[in-house]
Amino acid sequence: MLALSDIKGVGPETLLKLHQNDLTTARRLVLRAPIRYAVFRIDAPDHIAPDTTYTLDGELLEDAKVGYFHRNLDKLSVKIRFASRDTTLVLFNRAFLKTAFKKGVRIVATGRFSDRPNVFTASDACLRSSFHEGIQPVYGLDGISDKVFLKLVREALSQETPEETLPLALIRTDGILPMEDYLRILHQPNDAEDIESALRRTKYEELLRFGFEVALRKRAWERLTRERAKIPMEPVRAFIASLSFELTEEQKHAVNEIYRDLQSKRPMNRLLQGDVGSGKTIVALIAGFGVLQVGEQVAFMAPTEVLATQHFRLFTRLLAPFGVAVHYLSGAVRGEARESVLAALKQGPALLVGTHALFQESVAFSRLGLIVIDEQHRFGVQQRQELRQKAPSPDRLYLSATPIPRTLAIALYADMDVSSIKTLPKGRKTVVTSASTFETVPAIVESLKARLREGRQAYVIVPTIGLNKASEWAGVLDTARWLESEWPKDKVAFLHGKMPSEEKTAILERFAQGHTDILVSTTVIEVGVDVPNASVMIVLHADRFGLSQLHQIRGRIGRGGFAGECHLVSDALYTEPDRFRILVESRDGFAIAEEDLRLRGPGDFLGTDQSGLPPFRTANFVSDQKLLESAFEDAKRLLDSADPLARRYALAGKTSAGDIESNKP
Ligand code: ADP
Ligand code: MG
Repeated sequence: MLALSDIKGVGPETLLKLHQNDLTTARRLVLRAPIRYAVFRIDAPDHIAPDTTYTLDGELLEDAKVGYFHRNLDKLSVKIRFASRDTTLVLFNRAFLKTAFKKGVRIVATGRFSDRPNVFTASDACLRSSFHEGIQPVYGLDGISDKVFLKLVREALSQETPEETLPLALIRTDGILPMEDYLRILHQPNDAEDIESALRRTKYEELLRFGFEVALRKRAWERLTRERAKIPMEPVRAFIASLSFELTEEQKHAVNEIYRDLQSKRPMNRLLQGDVGSGKTIVALIAGFGVLQVGEQVAFMAPTEVLATQHFRLFTRLLAPFGVAVHYLSGAVRGEARESVLAALKQGPALLVGTHALFQESVAFSRLGLIVIDEQHRFGVQQRQELRQKAPSPDRLYLSATPIPRTLAIALYADMDVSSIKTLPKGRKTVVTSASTFETVPAIVESLKARLREGRQAYVIVPTIGLNKASEWAGVLDTARWLESEWPKDKVAFLHGKMPSEEKTAILERFAQGHTDILVSTTVIEVGVDVPNASVMIVLHADRFGLSQLHQIRGRIGRGGFAGECHLVSDALYTEPDRFRILVESRDGFAIAEEDLRLRGPGDFLGTDQSGLPPFRTANFVSDQKLLESAFEDAKRLLDSADPLARRYALAGKTSAGDIESNKP
């Protein structure tokens, strides 16, 4: 296609500016999508609303006057009739308009009515005769105005239309505009409908590119091979038989799927999804047990020290009869203790439990066979990748209690196999959830005391630690102090993330042993803590937490033989009475996750930049679900296609984005 310098109007200076904007070819130039569109239209409001921007058309009732505040600030004011309303129009730093703004002249101004009645403060104004209604693309380029850029685009398009990049079959099935129509509409839409159909192609290409990336990643993974010894099943069965409970059907099924992976030529890359309390830990440990049997090592990583310690204790207890070495490592393990763990890793099979300290550089495994990552969504992509580099191709098992809505799952876990545990072990009692405002707190405290007198225990979750007295939210410290006045002081404990980890562990241990009745905490206890006797959960300022997070939090209770009660307290209910409705009505983690995603968007749902999702410019994981699904399908189809053109297109999508891209940030 055309070179940039062949476009009429592109001299050396413009060329340089285009390059500075990463527009290095004529193709890139015409494919550069606007970041938004400015709509120039004269409004005809029925009534004037405050804080609303209007573009109004009116006649000047007098000659404009200009006042100067100081050298750089002038104020033009003039009486004007907008519709049938007489108003004073005010414009700053437009003294030059004075000569044109004479009595009787028609003008158009964009601005707002300010608090003072009858003053319209405009950000822009011009003569009616030079105002053009229509839609103008905004490109947001450096050093090149939208007007100049649009002119270059038009010029380029009049000289040559770039050839179609999308295989024609896709265009037909997905309702995507062909290149020529797309470019015409993209840069010069007539109405909102045009914008939408142009945007559809922009989004589609963005999603398709991502689809290729994901599909290629999956294929690269599938090509990996892994040497492995056959796991002897006899000891594995003995281990399972030694447990105090029988596995649920779904746990057994997950174990079978995992063992199939552990016997295949490829490394395992599996996500084990299951609601809080569904018993994922033991499934993962059974996997680890098998890997240890063939002399390999297992790394079991948890997101918090509290949880890692809890796992360590459990594993030590369960594995003791089988003579398996279990070690613990976290940032808090230092000096000799640390040295001895590191030395053990140089020797033979071992199960190492810990926090992300497991993938510090100094930690070297001699034969890492399996990595288990508990509460995997709590870890950043970066951290997951670092651990991956610890061994060439160990098996990987990710555990997650946050069900991932389907669209995100396709994008995030396309390269993974998924096992799901959908039902909880037998004997779990229901958790009744209520949502109410702070007025009900006294009543909640009364019912709390009744449960405590029956011998149960309770969690109280608050959003902040409360070190900062000025916070408008209840903190751990003041809430604990308040509860100490309601219940024997030594039976109230509190916990937060800023405490040294030994202290946290000790406090949790005392609670688990039943020495304390109430545990006030931030969400450090959210993940994985297991105290079956706890049956009451109170969450203050519940609106500070995501729905999925609240679902996890309440998963802490109703674990023993006692029905649980969860009280969500939030004054946000005054304005949004339905805010927690799905939690009150449903126990279905997937439905809750979908709703959470819809309300908060993928960034917040997954924990922003940690999410591993690409930052789309135009496409959106929530509203463009259908398009995403078809783009992903298409990506796979193109990669499999025997048609060399289609394949080449697919691979170009991966390797030289410039060839097919429509807009790069
Ligand atoms: P999560 O999936 O949230 O990580 P856990 O693995 O912590 O759940 O399991 C929650 C509790 O359920 C633990 O106390 C565990 O011992 C128990 N548990 C797991 N599987 C079973 C089972 N099949 N029958 C009874 N209890 C089980
Ligand atoms: Mg868990």
